[in-house]
Amino acid sequence: MIIAGAGLVGSSFALALRSSGLRLALVESHAPACDDQAGYDDRIYALSPGTASFLDGSGVWQRLDSARITPITEMQVYGDDGASRLDFSAYDCGLPELAFTAENRLLQHVMWQQLGAQQNLTLICPGECEAIEWAAEYISLRLKDGSHLDAKLLVGADGGDSRVREQAGIDASQHPYQQLAVVANFEAEKPHRNIAYQWFRKDGVLAYLPLPDKHISIVWSTSVDHAQSLLALAPEQFCSEVAQAGGHALGDLRLITPGAAFPLKLLRVDRLVNPRIALIGDAAHVMHPLAGQGVNLGFQDARVLAKTLLNRGVQADCGDFRLLRRYERARKEDILAMQLTTHGLQRLFSNPWLSGLRNFGLRLTNSLPQIKGFLVQRALN
Ligand SMILES: Cc1cc2nc3c(=O)[nH]c(=O)nc-3n(C[C@H](O)[C@H](O)[C@H](O)COP(=O)(O)OP(=O)(O)OC[C@H]3O[C@@H](n4cnc5c(N)ncnc54)[C@H](O)[C@@H]3O)c2cc1C
Repeated sequence: MIIAGAGLVGSSFALALRSSGLRLALVESHAPACDDQAGYDDRIYALSPGTASFLDGSGVWQRLDSARITPITEMQVYGDDGASRLDFSAYDCGLPELAFTAENRLLQHVMWQQLGAQQNLTLICPGECEAIEWAAEYISLRLKDGSHLDAKLLVGADGGDSRVREQAGIDASQHPYQQLAVVANFEAEKPHRNIAYQWFRKDGVLAYLPLPDKHISIVWSTSVDHAQSLLALAPEQFCSEVAQAGGHALGDLRLITPGAAFPLKLLRVDRLVNPRIALIGDAAHVMHPLAGQGVNLGFQDARVLAKTLLNRGVQADCGDFRLLRRYERARKEDILAMQLTTHGLQRLFSNPWLSGLRNFGLRLTNSLPQIKGFLVQRALN
């Protein structure tokens, strides 16, 4: 089997198949930046307990430096009227935590080490997937250097601009949000007490995610102009803007990792599979980060596809279209529900005419324990 792309999702998928008996080729165009000794990465993820358990099963979670994993035990979400609020608490739900924060670079570092030692895997890096040809019994992938790889199944984990998806002729509809997500890390004056904060503001959505000690990471999704003006500020002014936008919930802030910005879009595909092809991760779906679910959904794709392949009969062809359809059926609804939710929230909170409705929605949801319980259950996967 060939896996295109060794981002977090492609790597986790390869690791989940380490005892499958399948021979794997993992093709990656760029080796990840894997320095685990550097300061905090600017890419911080909120990972669900379901993701933690999946990564634990592949031997990744327990190898991460636990001092750099931070549990989130409470979430506070604020509307833009200064009064509406929605809270989630692990304690109220009878859980040890709601999620964890972890750095992209540390995850990549541990995964990359594990992949290097994996018996059934050949890592081809740098290697760039270019074109696909189908034969009756296999698929042939041509790399940019002209070499070919043949396999029963090609899994596209090559991100939002997936070459595999394009070559497979799987249509993707794209909706750019005309926004950038500004990310940066800070030291806060006050302890965060493992609380994640989110403010739906008139200028976008701002999140504070807890990091070890008094450190936090922010994601501020806002218009391109506003994002660029934030990034152009001197560090002290940037800190003051971010602290003010968060109502000084954690007091003053000191910048520890410079700001960076990522363009935001919604990407939906009409199929997750084609004969001898399956898509996972951002190759299959991209969404607004306001629910912090993009990579979590990708890890679930990897988990479900790996399980589908591990459960097939010993003699069965791993590229059998019926198997791939089983994976697609298991994932489609979940992906659609999360994309509709994040897109719907983004639209609701970017429309100035709907301010009353959305703030009422936050207050109403906060008063309905069953609905809150349902939302928490969905986010645990
Ligand atoms: C600001 C921001 C904040 C976010 N926060 C969260 C969060 O808190 N929680 C969460 O769950 N998600 C979050 N996300 C989403 C998350 O970043 C993505 O869903 C995730 O990184 C996708 O991982 P992936 O492995 O599918 O794709 P990628 O990370 O894009 O990896 C694809 C890999 O394929 C390789 N590749 C590409 N093309 C080729 C080719 N032709 N040949 C060979 N290799 C190739 C690339 O080099 C790369 O290594 C956030 C996103 C943004 C923008």
